[in-house]
Amino acid sequence: MSRRLAQGPADAPRPEAGTPVRAVVALGANLGDRAGTIVAALANLARLPLTEVAASADPIESVAVTLDGPDAAAPAYLNTVALLNTRLAPSVLLAYLHAIELHHGRERRERWGDRTLDLDLIAYGDVRSDAPDLTVPHPRAAERDFVLEPWLRVDPDAVLPGVGRVADLLAGLRAGEDA
Ligand code: AMP
Repeated sequence: MSRRLAQGPADAPRPEAGTPVRAVVALGANLGDRAGTIVAALANLARLPLTEVAASADPIESVAVTLDGPDAAAPAYLNTVALLNTRLAPSVLLAYLHAIELHHGRERRERWGDRTLDLDLIAYGDVRSDAPDLTVPHPRAAERDFVLEPWLRVDPDAVLPGVGRVADLLAGLRAGEDA
């Protein structure tokens, strides 16, 4: 059964000591040394306290998505997904993700703009929150093949909490693309 957060992620139930939660983090980079940035960010994740990286997918290349839709003229992205086992609270984990973005020179100039590194918290166990500063599952994960594909590669049984099996979501997206 999923846990719904009454007052937002800052008040999220903390994982009990010794009970890690599976968190899914999406990484994307479309500026600079994309592959090097992804590798370094995965190393940063592995060094977070109370956290281990259980798996990460080989990066895939994808077309940049802007506010106006896919933009083949923009620099392409490298995307991957990391599976974490963590005892950090979700708000603390997200704060670390922002710190890692900043460490890699991310400037928050425009929403959906080019970036050296973008980290999104896709899922945190089966927690569901619609707080604006931390929405989990990530509200756009189900429509992003560059999240679903690498996630499926490292976890063929993955489920987006409250939405459905990642394999089914990806198949649905692909069927829509072919239609
Ligand atoms: P962006 O600049 O597109 O990475 O968006 C970052 C903003 O979205 C920050 O203010 C976050 O607090 C907020 N946000 C809400 N839910 C999430 C999430 N699941 N993962 C990452 N950022 C989130």
